[in-house]
Order: sequence, then C-alpha cells, then structure tokens
Amino acid sequence: MADKTFTTKGFSSAALHAHNNLHPNSAHTTPIYASSTFVFDTAQQGMERFSGQQEGYVYSRWGNPTFADAERVIEALETYEVKDDNGQPLQVKAILHASGQAAMTTLFMSNLSAGDKMLSHYSLYGGTHELVTKVLKECGIEAIISDMRNADEVEALLKQDPAIKLVHIETPANPTIQCIDIAAISAIAKKYNCIVSVDNTFATPYLQRPFALGADFVFHSTTKFLNGHGTAIGGVLLGKDLDFMKTKATKWHRLIGGSSNPFDAFLLLQGLKTLEIRMDRHCANAKQVAQYLQQHPSVAHVNYNGLPTHPGFAITQKQMSQPGAMVSFELEGGLDAGIKFINKLQMCIRAVSLGSVDTLISHPASMTHYGVGAQERLQYGITDGLIRMSVGIESVEDIIADLEQALEG
Ligand SMILES: *Cc1c(COP(=O)(O)O)cnc(C)c1O
Repeated sequence: MADKTFTTKGFSSAALHAHNNLHPNSAHTTPIYASSTFVFDTAQQGMERFSGQQEGYVYSRWGNPTFADAERVIEALETYEVKDDNGQPLQVKAILHASGQAAMTTLFMSNLSAGDKMLSHYSLYGGTHELVTKVLKECGIEAIISDMRNADEVEALLKQDPAIKLVHIETPANPTIQCIDIAAISAIAKKYNCIVSVDNTFATPYLQRPFALGADFVFHSTTKFLNGHGTAIGGVLLGKDLDFMKTKATKWHRLIGGSSNPFDAFLLLQGLKTLEIRMDRHCANAKQVAQYLQQHPSVAHVNYNGLPTHPGFAITQKQMSQPGAMVSFELEGGLDAGIKFINKLQMCIRAVSLGSVDTLISHPASMTHYGVGAQERLQYGITDGLIRMSVGIESVEDIIADLEQALEG
C-alpha cells in the first residue's frame, strides 16, 4: 500500500486522486473493506496499535481503509488552495460518520459541556434545530438562536454572555437560503474566544471553503451533494486543531458509535469524483430555474441567493464562487396552491433531502421542519406555502417544462 507521490493543481484532480492508499491486489478503485476487525501479526503489534504507537487499523468503529480514502479526499477539497497562518497549505483532519447528525453530535458534544452555551441562526436544518434545542438542552447546554445576518446582534450576545463557547453557522441556510457572512461572524467570535463551526452542506467545498474564512470546524451531511446520487447517508466533521481532532473528537466519535460503514463510504467516494462537474451543472440549472420562477405570475417570491434582489446576494458574491442549487419559493395562492403544485409534478421528484443528481421538491412546513413548531417556523420565515427545490442536473428545459405544467392552475 504505497503512498502516491505526485502532486496535483486542480480541484477535480484532488477529488479523483487525493486518497493516499494504493490498494492490495492492484485494485483500481477503493475496495469495500467489509471487515469489522483487523488482524495483528503479533500481540506486540496489537498493543502498539491500541496505544496509537503504530498506525494501522484495529476495529471498524474506530476506522477503516474505505472510510480513510473518503476522509483524505474531503480533507483535500476543504483545504483546496487554503493556507494556514504561516502561508503553508492548511492541514485538517476529517472524521467520517454514519450520518450528518452523528457528525454534528461529535462536534457539539466534544466541544461543549453542561453549563456551556452555543449560538446559532434561526434558519437551520430541521434536525440541527431539534438537536441543539432539545437534545443539547437535556444535557445542560443551552442554544441561543439569533439572527446571525446581523453582526451587531451577534456581538452584543457574545459580549453579554461569556458562557457562549461555540458559534454555529449554516450558510446558505435551510430552507430560506439566507446567507451569513462567515468571515465577519468568525472575526467577532474570535474576539470573544469562541469556536466557530460551519455547516457547508448546501455549498460544498467546490463553492465555499469556510476554513479560509476563519472557521475552526467544517461539517457536511455527505448524504447531499458530496455523495450526489442519493445512495447513502453520511456525515463528516473536519477540524484544523489536529490534536483535538486526533484525541477528543476521535474519542467521542468512537464512543458514541458514530462510525460510517464501508459500503456507504464507497458510494461517497464515487460521488466525490464528479463533484465539480455536477456542481457546475446544478448551479447553471438553478440559476435558470430561479429566473423562470421569478417572472412567473403565480409565484409570490423566490429565495435564491444568486438573484440580485435576494438579501444574501452580496455575501454570496463575496464568499462563494457560485450561488449553489437550492431554491425556495412561495406561490401566490399560499399553502393550497403549493400542495396542488407539488401533486401535479411529473418528472421532478416529491421527496425531502437534497443534493441528488435529480430534482427534488419538498414542502418544509409539513416535512423537514414539521418538528420546529408552527410559531417558530413563521418567525423563521418558513411560511406554510414555502416550497423547497434542490435543482438537479437534468436538461433544464425539462425541469422548467414540468414546473410550467404544474403551475398552470
Ligand atoms: C441533511 C442535513 C443535515 C443532517 O444530515 P444527515 O445526513 O441527514 O444526518 C445537516 N445539515 C444540513 C444542512 C443538511 O442538509
């Protein structure tokens, strides 16, 4: 298992070649290492692997060669052209998890303890919102939910409450596509010694690299664009404090049982290879779909951060290379019109989740954000008629034709 020795320049080359391991038996693609445990040559070797003196695999809840290849690729993509404080290529460590929620649990549990608080934004992935406001709360960790688009509000909260230890940013945020200025919020957080984590699921490292903007941790639900084909659940946590990642974060990941599995990691590796070309097409299609929806008389408003009328447009221009592929919109007829529209769709898929090669359409108030509660939803801009679209890579004229026929009253 020799390491590769050449270097590459481009993003897609990293996506295809950044995994280090050359595999036994001359396998071209990373094999699915379906093995729960690994063989020690001697008792001595077993002891050394357990203590960490010798590198190598022990037990797949701890690590597995298929996971490792996916971790190396994601590390390369999240640090692509990112430098550390000394101008050297930034080093980070990724830990692959069974799901985004598992990676999020490692992130919060390894950084926070009872009595600590965290700060986040009110337009969040439904599962994150429930995890921080329900599960963390039971563990004695309070989540303060604010409007992080307002930097002054964030600063005032951090100033008055030194118990806030972590600031969690999701941008673009689900399902309103609101954008948060990662560099500005990170700078404020640093002033108050807070850790910054960024959920980069909607953007992917191809469009936005939070480590370059001040983040300490980057999180992905790999279920979405990184896998890209809707074939597996997964999550990843990356951190730039290598000691922390190798000790506490690794410990927590192992002990909460957050390990991925070899088949899902294999599927993720296949998806990662085409991330760049998929994202270019996703983004080009989303732009056309958003422009189409915006001029349609039955559409009351469109949330898409690539439209100059969107409040997050300037931030998107600053921190993303393209606006992404997530669009949400409200019909003039509100909830009833929305339900009618969703039921009339023919090609676009009625499903939650996002980031798949095909177009997925969902209704946040009754599906992904049902657990958030009606009053909070309204406060967060998740109106009952809001429809969320993850624009796929189909031929865009077919996506628009399907929307057209479904919008015809
Ligand atoms: C899906 C998602 C998650 C949760 O990830 P799972 O893989 O479903 O556990 C977290 N954040 C965002 C933005 C997501 O889209």
